[in-house]
Amino acid sequence: MPPDEPIGEALPRLDELRRDVDRVNGQIFAQLQERGRLVLEIARLKQSRGLDGYDPEREEAMVRSLPLSPSDPYGPAAVREIFRSIFRASVDVQDARRSGSLLVRRRDLISDSGIRVGDVLIGGGRPVIMAGPCSVESPEQMELVARAVAAVPGAKILRAGAFKPRTSPYTFQGLREEGLRMLREAADRHGLLTVTEVLDTSTLDLVASYADILQVGARNMYNTELLKAIGRLRKPVLLKRGFMATLEELLNSAEYIVSQGNSSVVLCERGVRTFERWTRNTLDISAVPLLKLETPLPVIVDVSHALGRKDILLPCARAALAAGADGLMVEIHPSPHDALSDGFQQLDLQDFASLIEGLGLGTTDTASHRAGSFIGEPDLRSEVRR
Ligand code: PEP
Ligand code: MN
Repeated sequence: MPPDEPIGEALPRLDELRRDVDRVNGQIFAQLQERGRLVLEIARLKQSRGLDGYDPEREEAMVRSLPLSPSDPYGPAAVREIFRSIFRASVDVQDARRSGSLLVRRRDLISDSGIRVGDVLIGGGRPVIMAGPCSVESPEQMELVARAVAAVPGAKILRAGAFKPRTSPYTFQGLREEGLRMLREAADRHGLLTVTEVLDTSTLDLVASYADILQVGARNMYNTELLKAIGRLRKPVLLKRGFMATLEELLNSAEYIVSQGNSSVVLCERGVRTFERWTRNTLDISAVPLLKLETPLPVIVDVSHALGRKDILLPCARAALAAGADGLMVEIHPSPHDALSDGFQQLDLQDFASLIEGLGLGTTDTASHRAGSFIGEPDLRSEVRR
């Protein structure tokens, strides 16, 4: 437009040019969506062949193949920037599709009545209690604990570690196969199911031959080889959230197991690491309803490892159940002071009975409940040990 053209005469031309721009926008939009459909089709093909979705070299080659020229209205730098946005949006759209199509999100993944382990249903409406010592220490200890767990009304499972992933290599590492045997024998004497941790693929068959439920601990949530190997077994799994894991990452770890054909996965919130020092970890209660929105897999809450203290166990356990948890994990020991691991967070057997009663899950057969100190006022000054 010549600079001296009166503004009134330029307006029709301006309108015309704007209409052209609108038309081109429409074409770009249609072309972009056409491109998006092609990207999704490529992503689907790649996924079915197990190929990686993201290919930066191909992106670079696509831009290089364009007739870039500095004399064009949009020069090479601008075109690169525009295509970078398109590539980013394409990767996002593929990620969203892929995560939306995770098997663990499918509502028909497991039966509505939950995951069956022996005669116990996890996720079947009635909260499951998984209780036992941090570590198997002796047949006598396991006998006392198994008796206390068997006294709980309803669904209960005996827990205890025989392979222990300790922070320090110089502390008690577990009784290994001997411990697995003690756990199994104590459970069998009292008609209980067992859950115990498996640390690696080399001991997987051994642990699986003793346990009813395989526990993948927080430290192993990212161990994809272990997850895949467990997925190839047909054995229920308790998958614990890593202490720095997002819920998306937890779901993807579960997907590793489910993708191999094993959909009997129970998720476990056990606290995440934050700046807070008054608890061992920070119990993420929101994880329970959030996971429930995303997956039909049952969710249980390990209050012992989340809190690392006993005095606020009851309110937090109540909160977990109120938030929709399908059960609780709690560490108990006949003599917590003498425990070889995590003694500071384990309830003695009477306090365990009081906890069950306090949760309204019924009265255990264990007589003479003490007024459990953990039920009273929380002692926020108590030291939180590791
Ligand atoms: C456990 O349950 O014994 C245990 C070690 O827990 P976490 O993996 O959650 O630390
Ligand atoms: Mn422990």
